[in-house]
Amino acid sequence: MQEHESRFKTFLKEKGLKLTQSRYSVLEAAFRLHEHFDAETLYSHIKQSNVSLATVYRTLPLLLEAGLIQLAVRSEGRDRFEHILGHPRHVHWICEKCKSVVETDLATLLPALQREAGDIKFDIASITLNISGLCWKCRNYENESQ
Ligand SMILES: [Zn+2]
Ligand SMILES: [Zn+2]
Repeated sequence: MQEHESRFKTFLKEKGLKLTQSRYSVLEAAFRLHEHFDAETLYSHIKQSNVSLATVYRTLPLLLEAGLIQLAVRSEGRDRFEHILGHPRHVHWICEKCKSVVETDLATLLPALQREAGDIKFDIASITLNISGLCWKCRNYENESQ
């Protein structure tokens, strides 16, 4: 059993819930996707026909509460999520204009952050840095219109 599966199972058990086939399908789809997803995108990646969009909407809060996914960005009233396990450390570069999100690795910043964590005796579980600004496309557009 994969770690995300056993973590979800334990979490559900504590709540008196079961890992049903449809909950399992939602979980699997969330961990198959290595990019940000909203409920509809996730739904489109679920092959089992008995899983409805409503089930996806009901299962996402459970995955959030279990600490398996996190809110990556909220844009135009749509929440976009990403899985945490196996993808714990990265930077989001969020364009304020077109709302695009680029992800990069945190490798170069990590040693400094870990040093600081050590200083305050903090145990890091996951890191996501959100940086907002203008992407290159929107910057080009701004230059042209001047
Ligand atoms: Zn991300
Ligand atoms: Zn942009």
